[in-house]
Amino acid sequence: MKYGKEIYKECNHCGGSLTLRPLLEVNARTATLWSDGYVDSPMVPQQSLLVKCGHCKAEVWLPELKASVLECEDQAMEYLSLDEDGLWSLLDEYGQQPSEHQLYIRLNLWQLANHKYRREKPIPVEWSTRERTNMKDLLSILDMNSAQERLLAAELLRQLGDFDSAEGPLLAPLEGSAFEVSKQISQRIKHKQQQVFKCQLQSSTNDLETGNCC
Ligand SMILES: [Zn+2]
Repeated sequence: MKYGKEIYKECNHCGGSLTLRPLLEVNARTATLWSDGYVDSPMVPQQSLLVKCGHCKAEVWLPELKASVLECEDQAMEYLSLDEDGLWSLLDEYGQQPSEHQLYIRLNLWQLANHKYRREKPIPVEWSTRERTNMKDLLSILDMNSAQERLLAAELLRQLGDFDSAEGPLLAPLEGSAFEVSKQISQRIKHKQQQVFKCQLQSSTNDLETGNCC
C-alpha cells in the first residue's frame, strides 16, 4: 500500500481546507470480499467517500470537492469519519430521490448491519425494522443492468429470507468472479441460509474495488 502526496480540498459548506492522502497502490491479494460487497483487508484502511468536514462538521462527499485555493497546510484539517448514527440521519436528506449518494449511504448501512454476522459460525439473522426497511429500499434503487448490482439484489433478497425471489437476479448471464459469487449465493438460497459469507474466489481479485476516492 502506498500513499501519494497530501492534497488539499475545499469544504463545499464552509470553504475550509481538508487534507487528503490519496492511496496510490493497494495490494488486493490480502483482501476478503464478502457477499454484501464489503471488502475487508488488514492492509487497506477503509476509504470512505462520505465524511465530515473537520472545520464545520457538515457532511462532505470527498470525490466532489474542489481543490483548495489556499494551499495552506497550517489551516488544513483532517476530515472526520461519519458514524452509523450520522449515516442514518443523512437518509432524511438523501433518502427520497434515487441517487448515487443514496445508494452509497444505504449500501454502507446494510454492510454495517451485517458486521455482527461476519463470522464462520452460523447464527440466526434478525433485522431491526429500520435495517429491513433500508434493505428493501436499497433493493428498489439497484440497477439491474449492472452485474454487480444484480448480485447485491440477490444477496439482499436472500438475507431478507425471500428465497423464492432471490434466484431471479442471478438468472441473466454473469461472468468471471461475478459468476463464481452467484453460484455461492445460489447454494445458500437452496439451503435457506440468510447469513452474510466470505466469497471464495478462484480467479484474480484484481477487479475488487478498493473504494479509492481520489
Ligand atoms: Zn466545512
